[in-house]
Amino acid sequence: MVGVVETPAPADSSFARGNVVVVVPNYPCRRCYSCRRGLINLCDEFDHAGATSDGGLAELLWVPDEFLHRVPDGLEPAVAALAEPLACVLNAVVRINWQAGEPVLVLGGGPIGLLFAAVAKLSGSGPVIVSEPNPARAALALAVGADHVVDPLQPEALNRLSELLGGNGAPIVFDALGSLLSTALHLVAKGGSIYIFGVNQAAQVTFKPAEIVDKEVNVFGVYIAKGTFPRAIRLLAAHPDVFGRIVSDSIPLADWGRARDLLMSGTAAGKILVTMARVG
Ligand SMILES: [Zn+2]
Repeated sequence: MVGVVETPAPADSSFARGNVVVVVPNYPCRRCYSCRRGLINLCDEFDHAGATSDGGLAELLWVPDEFLHRVPDGLEPAVAALAEPLACVLNAVVRINWQAGEPVLVLGGGPIGLLFAAVAKLSGSGPVIVSEPNPARAALALAVGADHVVDPLQPEALNRLSELLGGNGAPIVFDALGSLLSTALHLVAKGGSIYIFGVNQAAQVTFKPAEIVDKEVNVFGVYIAKGTFPRAIRLLAAHPDVFGRIVSDSIPLADWGRARDLLMSGTAAGKILVTMARVG
């Protein structure tokens, strides 16, 4: 979420009234087992803006200033609003040994998959291949840097993906749905890595552990952001034209129900923003 500082506090806060800021929306407790080990993205007692505290659909909310980051001049609030999801994607990227010119496979072309595809392309990877059935999302994937998009619901989709990867698989596979481990294992290269990002509590996946062993595959779970907001904001400011395309719908707060329906229908091409008058 993006907002404008209304009342800075305490007096020595580094923020001033009128500053445009993004909010880190998960406030760790700093006392639990995970926090004490420095794993603040895995806090057991998180306070989540928008879930356990007021969030981005409140016109005014209180945020501890350690969870605010300034939006640089010239960066549109609508693009800056991608800082949180991009910071989460960058938490996967910090674990990746990027190699320019190596293929990347992204399973799922929702906003998170699109952000990952864009970062992969900007990092020099290629071809960047996205698997996504929704035609609007497929078009967006190409617009943010994907080299190929394959509809996974078409017959022969797996063969097509395999063929685009030259028959060797992808050294990096990103599962943006959180339910595609067996597909990922099929398409990952020997010695490759799978990053499971999507959170799907209902997903049950059948796979052969031997596939992990035989190919010496690394499987990583990636949960939200961890110290990655400053980099996310710099990336957005450097490439607003690329990332700005991911925002497909801006809906005023008064029409919030329309935003919810669009989200729940799964038909939006990209990120849905809810806007309000205070932030331009
Ligand atoms: Zn904690």
